[in-house]
Amino acid sequence: MTRLLVVEDDAALGRALAIILRAHRYDVAVSTTGTDALQKAAAWHPEVVILDLGLPDIDGMEVLAGIRGWSQIPVLVLSARQNSEDKVYALDAGADDYVAKPFAMDELLARLRVVTRRRETTPEDPVVQTAAFTVDLPRRKVTRDGAEVRLTPTEWRLLEILARHAGKVVGRTELLRELRGPNLAHETHYLRVYLAQLRAKLEPDPAAPRHLITEPGVGYRLEP
Ligand code: CA
Repeated sequence: MTRLLVVEDDAALGRALAIILRAHRYDVAVSTTGTDALQKAAAWHPEVVILDLGLPDIDGMEVLAGIRGWSQIPVLVLSARQNSEDKVYALDAGADDYVAKPFAMDELLARLRVVTRRRETTPEDPVVQTAAFTVDLPRRKVTRDGAEVRLTPTEWRLLEILARHAGKVVGRTELLRELRGPNLAHETHYLRVYLAQLRAKLEPDPAAPRHLITEPGVGYRLEP
């Protein structure tokens, strides 16, 4: 059975979806808040997620960004937001498909089958631990000696990419592409500056980094 997480704050709709989806041989868990959804996504390892965007605590788009920080599991957005801008925005942010409410159950089931088939699930460890610091991808937090370290959004994004590929080299071009279009003329400088900032915050000896490693001429690597 495919583990499916339904994130829907409308309790009646969530229950109805769970009943129908279980009848179609999905193993279903329901979250009614975004916070609970992120925790379940990290702990329960669903193979596909149905995500409502209008949630009582944090916006569904933030839940999507949180999941995409460490996982490529298929996410099907289910939303009452009708305009095409929202749809494009959700797909750009990494949603696999978008179904507008109200929807026909047959259509939802068909789209679910497609997104589940399209992506192979990649089990990854959402928490990367080094001797000096810990990167918690679902919670978007980095801690050092038990205390949270404050990072700028760009520093976090860079660390997130490296942590997702922990132990492997990530090329400069790939890093820059994922960081989205800084001025290419300054690319080496740009990455070097942010890596230096991250090392200053996370490495016990920033001048002799043991975890945020430069691969000369190639890129960078987070060494657990
Ligand atoms: Ca809602």
